[in-house]
Amino acid sequence: MLVDIVVVGSLVTDYITRTPSFPRPGETVFGHGLSIGFGGKGANQCLMAAKLGAATAFVGKLGHDAVGDNYLDELKRTTINIDHVTRTSLAQSAVANVVVDDNGENCIVNIPGSNRLMTVEDVNAAAEVIKSAKVLICQNEISFDATKAALTIARQNGVVTVLNAGPAVPNLDPEILNNSDIVCVNETEAEVLTGVPVSGVADAVSAAKVLLTQGCREAVITLGAKGAVSLDLTSLAAGTDHEWVPAEKVVAVDTTGAGDAFIGAMAFYLAKMPTLPTKEKLRRSCAIATQSVLKPGAWLSLPAREELPSHLF
Ligand code: ADP
Repeated sequence: MLVDIVVVGSLVTDYITRTPSFPRPGETVFGHGLSIGFGGKGANQCLMAAKLGAATAFVGKLGHDAVGDNYLDELKRTTINIDHVTRTSLAQSAVANVVVDDNGENCIVNIPGSNRLMTVEDVNAAAEVIKSAKVLICQNEISFDATKAALTIARQNGVVTVLNAGPAVPNLDPEILNNSDIVCVNETEAEVLTGVPVSGVADAVSAAKVLLTQGCREAVITLGAKGAVSLDLTSLAAGTDHEWVPAEKVVAVDTTGAGDAFIGAMAFYLAKMPTLPTKEKLRRSCAIATQSVLKPGAWLSLPAREELPSHLF
């Protein structure tokens, strides 16, 4: 099987409860309603690339439970290849219990479950599909050993490796960073990885310079409504400095998953239009991520190719 993009990552089902106010310990309140959403950074990124028209495959793990059955049914409704989505009886499928009050505040209990049971063996079983891909995307939501194995196979076979180092952890394994061609993070994650507080373009450039010393060849930092910055080793050496594109001004409805839309889109351009200049790749990925903030939810807000202007392709 040949694919453009392979994602080795997480599958999480979100249970989103809306309530007038948060219950105090011991209290029961009547909520407005429950919605179920499919996500996990890895799955969101893979679906984004698939909706843009890339041939994608997902390597991940679900539990042997009803949550896992539902997720698998949902994946079957997409074009994502799921030959390497396995099941385990040793943990539940990952869920996030999200409670949102009428002020839009939320609190979340995340149960990583089966995502954390992804093993090196699972990754090795998917080695052929990883080797066949043009781009591999990993995140920090599965076991670090599995991520390391996937990045190593990809690196040894000339596959472009993209690491979305979220959720961010300080002192990330240097082997993971060394095997990542492109590290893409948001402001908070950039700060955790580099120690540089990031709240704008200048800070992002400083943080990107630190990321480049940690092993990647290109650092991309997304800045929400302020767009995204990219800095690579070649331009740094040539003294040509960074690229920055601002995001289009819009009234954001829900920014959940915007970073995932950006990364899925960036991977699409890396795989399908590899000669696109960096700035154009950033501009188009930002434009697609901005579309995703106009609708609620993560999975459902990802725009399909048909909904996007043709000049993005
Ligand atoms: P994350 O979801 O990981 O926190 P960001 O908030 O940095 O990521 O958003 C990723 C991308 O989504 C941005 O680079 C931008 O293109 C787009 N985006 C996010 N928030 C907005 C917004 N309020 N207005 C326009 N675009 C946005």
